[in-house]
Amino acid sequence: MKRIDQNIIKQIKGLLKNGVRSAREIGRIVGINHHTANKYVDLIKNGGLGNLEDDNRVYEKCPTCGGKVLMPCIACRAEEFAQLKI
Ligand SMILES: [Zn+2]
Repeated sequence: MKRIDQNIIKQIKGLLKNGVRSAREIGRIVGINHHTANKYVDLIKNGGLGNLEDDNRVYEKCPTCGGKVLMPCIACRAEEFAQLKI
């Protein structure tokens, strides 16, 4: 994958928030191929780009682990993913 384009990330995040889930659809709208779109979506969903989060991010107390984190709590989400993988 080429270097991460923050502008594309922002666009994809916006689409995801608006309920667009298909990498093919996202790729078409943003103007990248769906393989690349899929990688971006994975990165975003896995929290790998947490430091690129929206500017208005706020630290909150996580109801699950009690930590002061950026919601959604990456630690708890990682835990969820681990438990879902049966
Ligand atoms: Zn948590």
